[in-house]
Amino acid sequence: MGAMKKFKYIYGPVPSWRIGSSLGIDLLSQTEKICSFDCIYCQLGKTKSYSLSRERYVNEAEVVKELAMLPSDVRIDFLTFSGRGEPTLAANLGDAIKAAKKVRTEPIAVITNSSTIDREDVRQEIALADYVIAKLDAPTQEMFEVINRPGETIRFHGVLEGIRKFRGGYKGKLALQLMFTKENANCAGELARIVQDIGPDEVQVNTPLRKCPVQPLSESELSAIQGLFNGPQVISVYSSHKISVKPLSDPDTLIRRGKT
Ligand code: SF4
Repeated sequence: MGAMKKFKYIYGPVPSWRIGSSLGIDLLSQTEKICSFDCIYCQLGKTKSYSLSRERYVNEAEVVKELAMLPSDVRIDFLTFSGRGEPTLAANLGDAIKAAKKVRTEPIAVITNSSTIDREDVRQEIALADYVIAKLDAPTQEMFEVINRPGETIRFHGVLEGIRKFRGGYKGKLALQLMFTKENANCAGELARIVQDIGPDEVQVNTPLRKCPVQPLSESELSAIQGLFNGPQVISVYSSHKISVKPLSDPDTLIRRGKT
């Protein structure tokens, strides 16, 4: 157990309905949430001050050291860049993905809130991952402000254009994750049309089932929403297969599991 307590930047593996056994990598912080949004359903508490620029928080060499220390019998389906906030705000995300690929063979996932995807550098870096899960909860600037409460400079139009551009050039698997609460439930039809136009490989229809400030939609409400989406693969948090995974360290896993 001694060595396991030393993990600062990796956590889990946590069972993820989307990813299976997900080993989280946090390039942001061990304490405060670092995010460009303040979603009404965030499980990490309120965003105290928005982070809008990309910074280097954690040295990727330290992450690699921890990855190299993993016990050989741990089952991992994906190495997932997520953590306490928005992972693309880490300026070294691309470097960290490259470094992780040198020491591990598992595929890499990035879970992003899409706030920086209008940037060319971000699109290039997340394109290094095998699986990108990008958030899209709103069809308009107005609903974007209601549900995601973005930092002042972030425009919905930029987010949407960024997702479209990324889709155009990305060879890996792109999932769009849509979190529904009563606030945006009646935008589902409009969102479905936008999603169909973007053409992701997967659509993840979600509602906040873990403890957070707002109520989830019921299974039947979410299932009605799911029915509006056509396409290759539409999955829902209620109908997904639950897996059981043994984490390396419980406390860290619990505080960071918010997004996987
Ligand atoms: S849910 Fe994710 S994107 Fe939204 S405020 Fe929380 S950490 Fe940021």
